[in-house]
Amino acid sequence: MKIERIELFQVDLPYSGGTYNLSGGRTYQSFDASIVKITADDGTVGWGESTPFGSTYIAAHALGTRAGIAELAPALLGRDPRRVDRNYDLMDATLVGHNHAKTPLDIACWDIFGKSTGLPVYELLGGGTGTPMVMISSIHVGEPEEMRARVADHRARGYLGHSIKIGTPDSEGGPAIDAARITACLADRQPGEFFLVDANGGMTPESALRMLALLPAGLDFVIEAPCATWRETMSLRQRCPYPIILDELAQQDSDLAWAIANDVADGIGLKISKAGGLTPGRRQRDIARAAGMTVSVQDTVGSAIAFAGIAQLGATVPEKLLRCVLNCDDMVTLKTAEFNFIQRDGGILPPEAPGLGITVNEEVLGQPVAVWGD
Ligand SMILES: [Mg+2]
Repeated sequence: MKIERIELFQVDLPYSGGTYNLSGGRTYQSFDASIVKITADDGTVGWGESTPFGSTYIAAHALGTRAGIAELAPALLGRDPRRVDRNYDLMDATLVGHNHAKTPLDIACWDIFGKSTGLPVYELLGGGTGTPMVMISSIHVGEPEEMRARVADHRARGYLGHSIKIGTPDSEGGPAIDAARITACLADRQPGEFFLVDANGGMTPESALRMLALLPAGLDFVIEAPCATWRETMSLRQRCPYPIILDELAQQDSDLAWAIANDVADGIGLKISKAGGLTPGRRQRDIARAAGMTVSVQDTVGSAIAFAGIAQLGATVPEKLLRCVLNCDDMVTLKTAEFNFIQRDGGILPPEAPGLGITVNEEVLGQPVAVWGD
């Protein structure tokens, strides 16, 4: 089996909640998605997606994703898509870094690999646990009571996990309003629910410690990505009574290894496009497992194609360590694909269909913006 053709599509994914507010006054109305279609010489087709949150979030940005794909795609032509690690070695040798550009190519290869064997990707990744995965909401920054209402809305839709965004400068209310947001969002907590308080790197150790001092006792949550640098995170770690989860800081395998060696955190937000696809995502799953770290399988954002990748990898994380999965497709209004996941016992399972288990709505993608191969 050989890769014969690679097509790249661009679509905008409108945010389903209007405007998404992140720490530091960052706002987003839609997300620029790069979607890859790989066709093998036997006609088997694979799909992958990479949608950075926006150029003010992490270094990954959409124009860079497509420029990176243009560097990588010619090298992959003629390669066997099922040899995922070897293809990844070739991508690393062709372009240093740029995990987000490697992601859709890698995922599309896994989709073909699955279809070629008649198995869902989760079986190729080691086998599904069969345990329904809890979905986590994404509660963007707002007034405390408004955020509480959005938690309630997600609760009514079956979400058991809630990611509460905080990280507000003093000029906009600072630690006091962040503490009020956490308190409001946890006020109606139900049995079985859990809360990640996510600053997306927006706090300093000083502001984080001030915020923690303002909270009432007995709140049960973990802090995700409190600070933007390792130095700040390690400083806070020594003085923070709550578990710390890494997100934006941990991108490469080596970041995770270093964090474990220095006991910086208790868990990781394993975002597939941040890791660089399912091949490195699988490795990071296992590194985290070896260290006893909890794993939230997510992506920066994305449509149903990205969500299918999340669900396939999430299904292989042992129940004890899987914190949640993010249904990023629920965050956007454009339906790029049908992904008929199974809902059971307050969680979800990927379908048993081969590959990613999706049927792409090609009509919404338009014409490819670039094509390589025949
Ligand atoms: Mg996060």
